Amino acid sequence: MELRWDPIMRQWIIVSGARGKRPLLPKGYCPFCPGSEEVPKGDWTVISLPNKFPSLSPNPPLPSKSDRLYRTCPARGICEVIIYTPKHDATLADLNVENIKAVIDLWTERFIDLGRLDYIKYVFIFENKGRIIGVTLDHPHGQIYAFPFIPTIIRRELKSSKRYWKRTGRCLFCRIIEKEKEDGRRVICENDGFICFLPFFAHWPYGVHIYPKRHVTALPDLNEEEKMMLASLLKKVLRKFDNLFNMSFPYMMVLHQRPTDGREYPHYHFHIEFYPPYREKGKVKYFASVEMGAGTVTFDYTPEMKAKELRESPES
Ligand SMILES: [Zn+2]
Ligand SMILES: [Zn+2]
Ligand SMILES: [Zn+2]
Repeated sequence: MELRWDPIMRQWIIVSGARGKRPLLPKGYCPFCPGSEEVPKGDWTVISLPNKFPSLSPNPPLPSKSDRLYRTCPARGICEVIIYTPKHDATLADLNVENIKAVIDLWTERFIDLGRLDYIKYVFIFENKGRIIGVTLDHPHGQIYAFPFIPTIIRRELKSSKRYWKRTGRCLFCRIIEKEKEDGRRVICENDGFICFLPFFAHWPYGVHIYPKRHVTALPDLNEEEKMMLASLLKKVLRKFDNLFNMSFPYMMVLHQRPTDGREYPHYHFHIEFYPPYREKGKVKYFASVEMGAGTVTFDYTPEMKAKELRESPES
């Protein structure tokens, strides 16, 4: 386990030789169900656990030899699992708003605790949902990777928002929220605290973003009422996905928050992004050569069309 620097793309790669050997679980056994050794005894609603097969470790082995071109670094960090509920067959969308709020509270707590560690520069909270994404455990859960560096996509967002902030004195994301509201065609749903839309420049057919309307850079900046509103909106969005496709809709969901490296990022704006791997019912959206090899996204519809489908999909 080590970090290797890609000098061409200028980013760290996490190399963990042992993770490929993860054992296949016996059929019918779920390590996240009550009664398993991994979860606490007694009642719980939502819990975090260390990831048993982490890609990063608080005490990583020494990396292989580094030179000026081929740099390596210890893979120091923390990987955790967040179990959303004791109920094996539920999904985040099935939980009631109070339970989803409890998930958001735990995200917030882990963001603060992990971010406080001096070697953690970025706390990345996410969920991979569905077998099609490669998830091997059906029990509803998300994950956290606490990185010793700021990941590439976040660095890119920080750079563009800082540039906009310097040039105009305004937040790039707040401006995008205004633009989307003005236009309205890509807005999926909103409440007093949050808004969900498929951006003008969406990358995935159903790749919605959720933003707090107030300019905050991370979860700990939200008040209790706002966290309730986030829970409520999140449930509606997830319901719309499930109802539109008439199935438990698979997705990747990521939280984009400020880094935890001790610097100030007043120009950043917390948000949630989704990358669902479908483009239509029964049709998978592949990120293929043009996306992977040229970094150019092809969107085979218009975001206005896809947003309309989601807007009209029942939210309960
Ligand atoms: Zn289970
Ligand atoms: Zn903002
Ligand atoms: Zn983002």
